[in-house]
Amino acid sequence: MIGEVLMGLTRREFSKLGALGLAAQMLPEVKAEAQGGGGRKVRYCVIGLGRIADHFMRGVQQGSTSQITGLVSGHRDKAERIAAQYGVPASSIYSYEDMDRMRENKAIDAVYVALPNSMHAEYTIRSAKAGKHVICEKPMCVSVSEAEAMIAACKAANVKLMIAYRLHYEPTTLKAIKMIRDGVLGKVQAIDSANGFNIAPGEWRATKKLGGGGPLMDVGIYSLNAARYLTGEEPEKFTAVASTIDHDGRFDTVEENTAWTMRFPSGILASCVTTYGASMQSYYKVFGSKGWLEVGSFGYQGIRLRASYTAGGRGTPATNVDETNPELDPKQFERQADHFTECILENKTPKTPGEEGLRDMQHIQSIYKAAGISFG
Ligand code: NAD
Repeated sequence: MIGEVLMGLTRREFSKLGALGLAAQMLPEVKAEAQGGGGRKVRYCVIGLGRIADHFMRGVQQGSTSQITGLVSGHRDKAERIAAQYGVPASSIYSYEDMDRMRENKAIDAVYVALPNSMHAEYTIRSAKAGKHVICEKPMCVSVSEAEAMIAACKAANVKLMIAYRLHYEPTTLKAIKMIRDGVLGKVQAIDSANGFNIAPGEWRATKKLGGGGPLMDVGIYSLNAARYLTGEEPEKFTAVASTIDHDGRFDTVEENTAWTMRFPSGILASCVTTYGASMQSYYKVFGSKGWLEVGSFGYQGIRLRASYTAGGRGTPATNVDETNPELDPKQFERQADHFTECILENKTPKTPGEEGLRDMQHIQSIYKAAGISFG
């Protein structure tokens, strides 16, 4: 460790290094070591430089535990522009074809897979084979068997796998979960959730080939995942219907709308809807015997929690909650990167490992089956 070497130096020896320009080169690492977490920063290579990758990279840059040290892109000019922004050397820019050379790059510890859904499995497995830890965007992939193969590949390579479910690291979401676990709402009976948007023509996410399915894969998964983290249970029974209203070329290979219900082992019922045809005010509501809570939006900031419950039971005054997380984007991405970095440095299992993504893929399979749509 450079930091250990430097810490063993006297002030005079350190000044000498400074004169040679060496101390300055070593300082970023020393600073990271001084920030705890056992020492150094975890260094990420970003695979796919689209919209979500931008949030992730800004989140990493804003934080203090992680660093962007590699890029994989099909557009060299774009990659060079971003490399200059994040101080990535030209030698650590790869194409999709030659990214396996990353194995030799000691300045990359982990990758962030931010590609279209149907590419997640291939790039996760290649990265694992290159000896890199993987944080992969949701949905984990486009079939149950791919999810299993990703988990197996990461296990075989002895690298960690985390699925980027950013809301599992978001404080207001965590507060909603805690309120339910603490019994503030009494016995939970039902959950109601929606998430959707009016998609532009030509988006890869609305194709079976790259998206793997319709809005359920992309945004409906938030309602599914929320119902699971809110109940702490796995759904065991499903009903579902799907439809396509707009025959304007956007939905030639996937459905436009899906509505589904899930019954959990405790008897809690969840009712969810997702669309690519309308801008939805995304939310979930949880109804219990002593009150309700609602979290509005699954967005990158402004997560608002409202609740009303009667702690003393029937006839006692209600307690009302209305609070919004003031943290701004890209804080959720910073928190998520911090978590994976900590797991890598301290050899812990991520809170949202590959198995969490696999469970969503299994449930998505059940929802599609109930809707009579083939999946995988
Ligand atoms: P995007 O279209 O903005 O970016 C995709 C990137 O992949 C682009 O840089 C594109 O050049 C590259 N790419 C490589 N091969 C491609 C191909 N054959 N077709 C299309 N693009 C190709 O997409 P995005 O919104 O950044 O989504 C990327 C992933 O992140 C998806 O899996 C999506 O579900 C996920 N996502 C997660 C969140 C979140 O909040 N966690 C939000 C948005 C997207």
